[in-house]
Amino acid sequence: MIGIVGASLAGLTVARTLRSLGVTEPIILVGAEPWLPYDRPPLSKEVITAGDESIAPDPGWATLLTPGEADEFDWRLGVAATGLAPGPVIHTDHGDIPADTVVLATGARARRLPGDVLAGVHTLRTLDDARRLADDLHDARDLVVIGAGFIGAEIASTAAAMGRRVTIVERAADPGAAALGPRLAAWALDLHRRAGVDVVVDAGVADLEAVDGRVRAVRLADGTTIPADVVVVGVGAVAETDWAANSPIAIDGGFLTDAAGATSMPGVWAAGDCARVTAPDAGHAVPHQHWSAAIESARAVAHAVAGHPRPAPRAPYVWSEQHGHRIQICGTMPRGVDPTVVEGSVDDDAFVAVAGDPDRPDAVVAVDMPRPFTRLRKAMDARVAGAVRI
Ligand SMILES: Cc1cc2nc3c(=O)[nH]c(=O)nc-3n(C[C@H](O)[C@H](O)[C@H](O)COP(=O)(O)OP(=O)(O)OC[C@H]3O[C@@H](n4cnc5c(N)ncnc54)[C@H](O)[C@@H]3O)c2cc1C
Repeated sequence: MIGIVGASLAGLTVARTLRSLGVTEPIILVGAEPWLPYDRPPLSKEVITAGDESIAPDPGWATLLTPGEADEFDWRLGVAATGLAPGPVIHTDHGDIPADTVVLATGARARRLPGDVLAGVHTLRTLDDARRLADDLHDARDLVVIGAGFIGAEIASTAAAMGRRVTIVERAADPGAAALGPRLAAWALDLHRRAGVDVVVDAGVADLEAVDGRVRAVRLADGTTIPADVVVVGVGAVAETDWAANSPIAIDGGFLTDAAGATSMPGVWAAGDCARVTAPDAGHAVPHQHWSAAIESARAVAHAVAGHPRPAPRAPYVWSEQHGHRIQICGTMPRGVDPTVVEGSVDDDAFVAVAGDPDRPDAVVAVDMPRPFTRLRKAMDARVAGAVRI
């Protein structure tokens, strides 16, 4: 029997890949949330515009399952794993599950700020988070988003389109520069400002001001006060490993794995946002807590568990949707490098830019130009696959 802890993107991908490789053993998926696997990217995009009452209680609208697929697996939903023992055995709040093989796919949780427990202060990771945020935003006028990362930027964009007054407060002086390069990061900030979003960079949050336990303003370190009916804390995610903290498994910013996803515990593998690959040739050696990386690491684990050679790795890839534009990035942006625009134009908000040698780019950034982007991404994938010994 194969036990998978975490019934979401990575867990489901492991399970369905095992089946596609001919593995017929029973597969149990243990999930802390009460839902069958649903997709998270819509949560920061179209879902929060809907308003609480319009979000169907069962997230079937964002299901990751294909028709009939749910019947192939044994689901233990609303069940939280609480530890691991050699064997391996999964301890849960509903009893122990002994297994021949265990796969950890518990994802990540939103990082919080100390003391951010006031009403009106949100993080966004789950459907329930999205529902609470949608409900609060419905009646709000002023939203402050703390953090200009992808999820914060998407929430700001969605709320601006809903007519809310939105301010992003960001600690870094040059948010986005690591992913996009300095010049395109400046373009992304300008995109916010043109959409009416105020962006305050190089700014620390000193305090959240409240009236009757509900947030009313964000006070910055320089004394500026920004009114806020709702605050979203978007300061990154932390691998969800706490539940296994007392188990005999190596954890350091994630469950540590080799390139195939094997952890330090015999018979236990890890995939997706909860895993941290230490092998430098893994293709996803740095933590990439993104959709495609979760799929890729899950496929690698399934192949290893089924005794198949590892599938060819792909270049890191992430997309984001902001102010009606689709931003796609593949590869790894070299530090401080400004990618060169090779197609389209930044002034038109539609372009493809490459960093490094144009024939062998280190990274490609595209805005609303999916076709040339896909061509360059395929070429980069082929190079990554060719460079990595499988
Ligand atoms: C709002 C939002 C928008 C995003 N948008 C994009 C995007 O546009 N592009 C992109 O590339 N990526 C995006 N991502 C990232 C992408 O969704 C994640 O990388 C992906 O969901 C990771 O999949 P996972 O299965 O590893 O983890 P998760 O999807 O987090 O799933 C982990 C599951 O494990 C469960 N779990 C946790 N602890 C336990 C336990 N102890 N016992 C049992 N179950 C447990 C959790 O409840 C959860 O259901 C977004 C993420 C969010 C939150």
